[in-house]
Amino acid sequence: MALRIPMIAGNWKMNLGIAEGAELVRGIAAGIRDVKGVDVLVAPPFTALPAVREAIGDAGIFLGAQNMHWETEGAYTGEVSAAMLKETGCTHVILGHSERRSLFREPSEDIDRKAAAAVREGLIRRQLEGSLQQFRVQGSMPASTILAYEPVWAIGTGLTATPDEAREVHGFIRGWLGDTFVSDAADQVRILYGGSVKPGNAADLMAQPDIDGALVGGASLQAETFAGIVRFDPV
Ligand code: PEP
Repeated sequence: MALRIPMIAGNWKMNLGIAEGAELVRGIAAGIRDVKGVDVLVAPPFTALPAVREAIGDAGIFLGAQNMHWETEGAYTGEVSAAMLKETGCTHVILGHSERRSLFREPSEDIDRKAAAAVREGLIRRQLEGSLQQFRVQGSMPASTILAYEPVWAIGTGLTATPDEAREVHGFIRGWLGDTFVSDAADQVRILYGGSVKPGNAADLMAQPDIDGALVGGASLQAETFAGIVRFDPV
């Protein structure tokens, strides 16, 4: 079985300006300096990406964006491309978050196009289940893909799925990956749990066999709290 390194990813959403973002990531870096064996990612708003990249320095924290367009350039007012994100130092991009779908009516077909474009550009992306049509047609999914399961009722509500409930859904997704792709996707793709993850519930969730990390919203906006989740004590 492939070794899946746990990942803790912070989605800052539309929060924090340039100076605040840089300060937060410096605080996170200080709080997790001695942590080994966990991949850590922050996804600030577009405007803060270059400053946060600079503040990360050589701390080994991955930088992600929260959205992108599937075209490389052109008349798409208000959009940014995968290449533009890469230029700011992004290695990842969050695609298909439930807020994009519900508040901005983003359909699965668009997320599918974005996912394919992100892979072409070498950006690894996190994407909710579904919207994987192009990979399904190919019959393979890049091992660098990271999926997130987030019960919508748990996002920003303080409510969390129990470890058993989350394990069941993650197991289902992994089974689906195995049935759908001929590649080793089921073994290699990380599946993160999201929905009111906090330092107090992270360890129990992470202890479940098919949970490979967390996508964190609200609790990612404070260095101490986010570092507390990163320090969930991986075994
Ligand atoms: C999210 O928006 O992806 C999320 C998990 O938010 P929160 O941690 O605040 O529930």
